[in-house]
Amino acid sequence: MLKDAETEKAANELVEIGRLLSARGWVPATAGNFSRRVDRDRIAITGSGLDKGELTPEDIRIIPLAGPVPSGVSAETPLHLSLYRRDPEIGAVLHTHSLPATVVGRAHAGAPEIVFRDYELQKGLRGRTTHATPLHLPLFANSQDMTALTAEVECRLSIDDHGYVLAGHGLYAWGRDMQEARRHLEALEFLLACELEQGRYRR
Ligand SMILES: [Zn+2]
Repeated sequence: MLKDAETEKAANELVEIGRLLSARGWVPATAGNFSRRVDRDRIAITGSGLDKGELTPEDIRIIPLAGPVPSGVSAETPLHLSLYRRDPEIGAVLHTHSLPATVVGRAHAGAPEIVFRDYELQKGLRGRTTHATPLHLPLFANSQDMTALTAEVECRLSIDDHGYVLAGHGLYAWGRDMQEARRHLEALEFLLACELEQGRYRR
């Protein structure tokens, strides 16, 4: 049950982003999960097994940043919690299962990162002012062992990263608020889609 204006605002933002990302086809078959910081100690996160384009505020859970993961939330909740715990500036985390992220991640499986070069939209990520600086997007092998995966992500992620890919699985992106998280997600999705298209023309 939602109890105050801030949790209500957080839930509404998650419902809205769910509709938008579902309409783009980035969260098929109930996949994906989204979260938003409520305050220093809590986040709002989507419930598990739900169509992300048909969420209502009642489908959003408010959970503490500390302590064990409550039941009824996504199995990937530890990956969200880990990001909020390590960086108090993070205000929202979005996770999609798009076709480009899934395929390009598989194509680079075994590599530590996907490198984007000379795309104008690399500037869609905070702190980047030119296409000339390569963008290194961390890549991890997929796993159902969330404890091990979370530990590996924490170990390799830099404070300057704004996202990462799980091979054959999907993309995580985040920002200081929902607006920035969405911009980072859209920029990375676009770059991954470009890489997928580019593959048609490589010889
Ligand atoms: Zn996932």
